[in-house]
Amino acid sequence: MTIHRNITTRPSVDASSSSIMATDDGKETTTAATIPATGPAAPAATPLPPAAIQKQQPVAESDAADEKPADGAKPFEYPKPKLRLEVRDINHEGADVFLQSINAAAVLAAAVGNVQRLLYGRNFWHPDPDTHMTPTRSVTVILRSMGGVAYTTGSEIDGDHKEIHFSLEYIAGIRPRKERATAEIAGVLTHELVHCYQWNGHGSCPGGLIEGIADWVRLRCALEPPHWKREPAAVGRWDGGYQHTAYFLDYLENRFGSGTVRRINEKLRLEHYDGDSFWPDLLGDSVQKLWEDYAEAVKEGRPEASDSAAQQLKQVQDA
Ligand SMILES: [Zn+2]
Repeated sequence: MTIHRNITTRPSVDASSSSIMATDDGKETTTAATIPATGPAAPAATPLPPAAIQKQQPVAESDAADEKPADGAKPFEYPKPKLRLEVRDINHEGADVFLQSINAAAVLAAAVGNVQRLLYGRNFWHPDPDTHMTPTRSVTVILRSMGGVAYTTGSEIDGDHKEIHFSLEYIAGIRPRKERATAEIAGVLTHELVHCYQWNGHGSCPGGLIEGIADWVRLRCALEPPHWKREPAAVGRWDGGYQHTAYFLDYLENRFGSGTVRRINEKLRLEHYDGDSFWPDLLGDSVQKLWEDYAEAVKEGRPEASDSAAQQLKQVQDA
């Protein structure tokens, strides 16, 4: 199947920008994303890319601002996959939009780093020794004419080589193009890259949880689409997928602490998913109870269910 940094000077979120959510089955949702404004970052906190590419890069929140290494030290470097871009119809309008909207090399590299840090990093600086990354060796982004938005698959040769298929028609249809294309494309790529790096309980993980984790990463990268919002009362099911599950996971991360989603992902590496034991083992309650807690927290507007931790962190850092 199918970013993060602690910064002292947080990039501001551009509410007008948006990104797109991609789904594996081709039904896509829309999205919005935010693009960080450029700003000098404190060297010890978050090394920011050059201004020219910074605008195009998703920015993920870091778990914790602690444990900053000494001045001059660099964050841990995760393995870099070989990144490829294949444009199957260079004359397609969508190809033109893609190539004009993002610096593919910079955006993909940044998104991979964000995904790796959010799923496998204790914080921005240090990997989490209790997690084990997927052996992903390469990611090929294939821009082609197709329905839907995007999906990720293993290559025919080897599951460690991933392919992200991204619809040229979808890219061409992003509106308003000028304001949203960059963030939409980055948001979709980030979502799909999670699928390249997440565990799935040996194929037994509910699809809604898989998609929820992908969108939680997107949320933490401040690349959520404009239409996403936490429902006034948690509606539907905990495994409804996409933003529904993403906000639920965000609540769990806020309530049980930074690294909760990372532990969920790691547990999905170790074992087959068994809904009756998975959540009690990890968080001490059934997922139904946790979902009810979440619904109540949303209704009461409690902090852990009102703003994403990322936004809270931003507020703290901006203060
Ligand atoms: Zn997906």
